[in-house]
Amino acid sequence: MKPLCIEDLPVSGKKVLVRVDFNVPLDNDLNVVNYTRIEKALPSIRYLLDKGASIILMSHLGRPKGVFNKELSLKPVAKVLQALLKIDVLMAPNCVGEEVEEMVTNLKPSSILLLENLRFHRAETHPDDDPEFAKQLASYADFYIDDAFASAHREHSSTFTITQYFKGKAAAGFLLEQEMRFLGGALDHPKQPFYAVMGGAKISTKMGVIHSLLGKVDKLLIGGGMAYTFLKAKGVPVGDSLVDDNFIPATEEILEKYQQKIILPIDVHAANAFSEKAKKCYFNLNEGIEKGFQGLDIGDKSVDLFSKELKDAGTIIWNGPLGVYEFDQFKQGTLGLEERMKKIDAIKIAGGGDLIAALKNPEAFTHISTGGGSMLEYIEYGTLPGIEALKRE
Ligand code: AMP
Repeated sequence: MKPLCIEDLPVSGKKVLVRVDFNVPLDNDLNVVNYTRIEKALPSIRYLLDKGASIILMSHLGRPKGVFNKELSLKPVAKVLQALLKIDVLMAPNCVGEEVEEMVTNLKPSSILLLENLRFHRAETHPDDDPEFAKQLASYADFYIDDAFASAHREHSSTFTITQYFKGKAAAGFLLEQEMRFLGGALDHPKQPFYAVMGGAKISTKMGVIHSLLGKVDKLLIGGGMAYTFLKAKGVPVGDSLVDDNFIPATEEILEKYQQKIILPIDVHAANAFSEKAKKCYFNLNEGIEKGFQGLDIGDKSVDLFSKELKDAGTIIWNGPLGVYEFDQFKQGTLGLEERMKKIDAIKIAGGGDLIAALKNPEAFTHISTGGGSMLEYIEYGTLPGIEALKRE
């Protein structure tokens, strides 16, 4: 069963509380550096404005850990939102309290109030500490919309606890609905063959997803720092590359069970230190990586191999960069595969904050997921706590 969608609710002229994910990067002068997450929330906001709803937006920003922090105020986001929508956006001084209640009461139809950072209150991330927090947020509105896919894996006050006050009156916004349609569609009814590409550093956070994907995909291509634990488990010398020894037994098991499905890099660009300016050195993995060097990117032959494997794909899901894309000399693997994938005619879904930051032409993908951890958990479990909470009856 799917949750209701924003269009299923009679929101005209009503007060509507919308959980968005405005957790955007800010520079030292507190300017918003990347608008993507704000832009992605606009379809739901515009729809509600057209319906004459009074919109109360709420979000977190960063990790203020329950205390007020001027540098993590959502004020800069209000400015951007105002510029994008070309209408006034009222900024609340807090997200709860009398002053905010008054602003909510006086909020006119087709106007917007942005509540201050939810995480200035510890109860946002620890709902059991103060159940009144979610209750007060809920008291502002007739309906609740969740459009924060990137936060939907959290059982927080504003994403999870709050929906108990909106039984039958809670729905997914257009962004959350789009993420479920593309990711869910790819996982439940993938156009065959179905391939996944996984990169990134931390194998510990991705083991569950790897297991789940291996049950679904025809091939799993592994790059990034994660690949070295697999390579070591296969007996390839990996020098000083990133390896999580705790996961060697688990990777050995996976390799044995799924050896036909798993594709690992065959060559790497390595460095004598984890640094932008380190000496770069190429290794063919037939021989392995010399001691004193760490693999920081997949090599050209691996890009060739990966793109050949993906050539006939019906569906591709890609999460995580294939190398340390933050360093110029080690971003070619990720960008090389991106370039080759442009020519592959398939449903192509990419996600994870680092991969999205690395990509040069995100518009060449069918869908770019706004989720990082939430995308991984959605792939692993096929749903998220925030999505399930919208179905409360
Ligand atoms: P994760 O948070 O696990 O998705 O990892 C993303 C990070 O992985 C990025 O910051 C990359 O720089 C890093 N990464 C990718 N490949 C490697 C590698 N070979 N060695 C170390 N870090 C890597």
